[in-house]
Amino acid sequence: MTPIVGHRKLLALLEQTVINGVPAHAYLFTGPEGIGKQLVAGQFARWLNCPDLGHDERTECSSCRRIQQGNHPDVILEKPDKGRIRIDRIRAIQSFFVYAPVEGRFRVCVIDDAHTMNRPAQNALLKTLEEPPAGRILILITSTPSLLLPTVRSRCRRIRFGALPAAVLATLLHEKGIPAERAAVLAAMSAGSVSRAVQMNALDFFELREKMISALTDPGARGISGLLELSGDLSKDRHSATDSLEMALTLLRDLMLTAVTPHASGVVHGDFLDRMNAAAQHLSADTILSLYDEVVRASELIQSEINVNRNLVMDVLLLRISRTVGGPTLGIGASAR
Ligand SMILES: [Zn+2]
Repeated sequence: MTPIVGHRKLLALLEQTVINGVPAHAYLFTGPEGIGKQLVAGQFARWLNCPDLGHDERTECSSCRRIQQGNHPDVILEKPDKGRIRIDRIRAIQSFFVYAPVEGRFRVCVIDDAHTMNRPAQNALLKTLEEPPAGRILILITSTPSLLLPTVRSRCRRIRFGALPAAVLATLLHEKGIPAERAAVLAAMSAGSVSRAVQMNALDFFELREKMISALTDPGARGISGLLELSGDLSKDRHSATDSLEMALTLLRDLMLTAVTPHASGVVHGDFLDRMNAAAQHLSADTILSLYDEVVRASELIQSEINVNRNLVMDVLLLRISRTVGGPTLGIGASAR
């Protein structure tokens, strides 16, 4: 069973609900993507039906094991198909709720990414929420509750999940085999989301970071053509563009910190501290702040406009950074390697 990291208070609350024997008929689990909401929902479903509640998390009873495997007659999981949960799936849930529990105490349906229910699906679900049959429990999971109808939200008991603290996340990533230094950077960059951190680790995140750091600290080394090439790499899709700008912001924040206090604690890219210290020496706080503004502006442009030419925005940004930090000039005859 995948161990659940963090969320101890929420788990204790849910366990107590089960022990008291009066769970709500519907729950809404909200919080950032990739922090284990579905794992907690699974644990809750197991507790709700476990015949031997006191058993150790590691020793499994048959009921818990089958729920975990998706093989229990009283627990089902719905998730989006091609990005949507449509009304026929809600009807299937309603049919599932027609019957009383076969083996366990409750029929439980977990709807993951509940915000992908389209309007007709949400309206259909509303009927179940308005007249909840006894012994049935609905658990909606979403990172964007604002996409749910207010009437759906208000009929569920809200359970808010916080992001995992960076230190907890770093330990977890390290346990997954990621070297400690890398794990610390990923944890600081991924807003407390395990899945986001793992994804970033799989992508060429560190390679991009290396490039971004040299663009910021030593743009002259790459030459104009090098910068434009980097710009192309960074803006090849929307995700890499927003990720690399996000990265640039944390780098600039680090630069700011080290400019004020060399060897400051709380820097994200600690493994680049020496290079940043060296760069920060000839950059004034004002310069770093103006670069920060430039990156924020580029990031807003790329995020708000679907049709924006990302590559062009990135070109302009990197050339501006380069000019500010003191890289190659744009004049005729500039050496473009
Ligand atoms: Zn059990």
